Amino acid sequence: MTTSQDFNNLINGEWLAGPSTAPNLNPSNLADVVGHYTQGGADHVNAAVAAAQAAFPAWSTSGIQARSDALDNIGREILARKEELGILLAREEGKTRPEGIGEVTRAGHIFKFFAGECLRLSGETLPSVRPGIGIDITREPVGVVGLITPWNFPVAIPAWKIAPALAFGNCVVLKPADLVSGSAWALAEIISRSGIPAGVFNLVMGRGSVIGDALVNHPGVTAISFTGSVGVGGRIAQSAAQSFKKVQLEMGGKNPQIVLDDANLTQAVELCVQSSFFSTGQRCTASSRLIVTEGIYPAFIEAMKARMATLKVDDALKMGTDIGPVSSESQLAQNLSYIAIGKAEGATLACGGERLPRSSEGHEGYYMTPALFSESTPEMRINREEIFGPVASVICVKDYEEALATANDTPFGLAAGLATTSLKYATHFKRHSQSGMVMVNLPTAGVDYHVPFGGRKGSSYGPREQGKYAQEFFTTVKTAYTLA
Ligand code: NAD
Repeated sequence: MTTSQDFNNLINGEWLAGPSTAPNLNPSNLADVVGHYTQGGADHVNAAVAAAQAAFPAWSTSGIQARSDALDNIGREILARKEELGILLAREEGKTRPEGIGEVTRAGHIFKFFAGECLRLSGETLPSVRPGIGIDITREPVGVVGLITPWNFPVAIPAWKIAPALAFGNCVVLKPADLVSGSAWALAEIISRSGIPAGVFNLVMGRGSVIGDALVNHPGVTAISFTGSVGVGGRIAQSAAQSFKKVQLEMGGKNPQIVLDDANLTQAVELCVQSSFFSTGQRCTASSRLIVTEGIYPAFIEAMKARMATLKVDDALKMGTDIGPVSSESQLAQNLSYIAIGKAEGATLACGGERLPRSSEGHEGYYMTPALFSESTPEMRINREEIFGPVASVICVKDYEEALATANDTPFGLAAGLATTSLKYATHFKRHSQSGMVMVNLPTAGVDYHVPFGGRKGSSYGPREQGKYAQEFFTTVKTAYTLA
């Protein structure tokens, strides 16, 4: 007999232990073990999918009031516990306490938003081209959906997939990232008490290569929504295509932030620091290429260095910390390797990029100072490959036209920013940026939950997430003809 407190998988309303557990460490303090979380096997995936399939007929035809009430219950509990859940998130992922609480708050709002959205799902009625026939176009649930999520938004990303999936009548198997099982488990525990029937929502923790792979290849899963790296996303798309599964992929970014000569320098520096380095640069929407026109370039570099010198890198839970630790040892090694790559490529390390072994209280953790490269050029690897850490490089360009061309010269297309006081350039940029999300005088990172989220090119594949656009992926369209 196991209980929920063993941090087990949630399958068909029961908490099930796997063959082993994995410890989850606090990246701010490696001596602090957040918990030991079950590592399921393919048998847990099979059981979870079977439970979801069995629950689907009743759930997909259940009244929308019941679904709305359950989602509202989840949202309300998350908001009521935002401090506690935000601290857990910060402790296991490494973003700062306010950032953790902010993410949890956002997740609560997402559930409440979709509590309303499930009441608003609409269709169309059209006349037929053949007299005497009526046509109804309706949206129906897709079936059993597999949700595979990354470590960098441990609560918000699961929330923005789970909430629309359930709202529109689907059953769910969630496979969270190993690094952040604590947040995923806490969310699952809330969902398990929300009034949703057993089997409708299932949590299977374990390795991506085992659980994720089994989920993607399971014939009982109709659709996969994935957020993570381009490499894993590409493999998922290929596997899913073999069995004609619907796929939604949100992947990497190499987001540009342009600063024009006419920008307000203080505002531009603030938004660059915010979007490049906050959340330790571990946001898919973080700006990592700062494209600056030559008139403002020298002042921009000096102002960035001065502002970055004020940033406090420390324990994520300590009040006053600006930048928490990197989430894992492997991510830290990757960040530091790109510092070496940038230097070898001939960019100038203007500041930062140093490993800090300990917090101010002496705890061993994965700390590094945020790094700024100046005199970098567009073809350098530091400007083409996603680093996913607090590392940004500055590219000097002649004018707006060169800045736009440089911004668009990337295999990615998630978010792009422009700092300017010119309405002409702002208007042109909004139209001609090849990215899914465009920000004018705002950080590239930081988006609303009630509007579409997603990108172009190698950043995203399939329908958009969030807002009312989420129904595109989580429903399927039916066209019905009736002879009057
Ligand atoms: P990842 O691709 O390593 O892992 C993502 C998820 O996939 C995890 O749950 C992992 O266990 C699972 N997985 C691993 N191997 C698998 C396999 N063979 N089959 C199925 N699932 C498998 O990514 P990560 O390191 O967790 O997250 C960082 C990446 O996520 C970055 O590239 C970042 O840009 C991206 N990201 C994108 C968005 C977006 O919306 N575009 C948002 C957040 C993060």
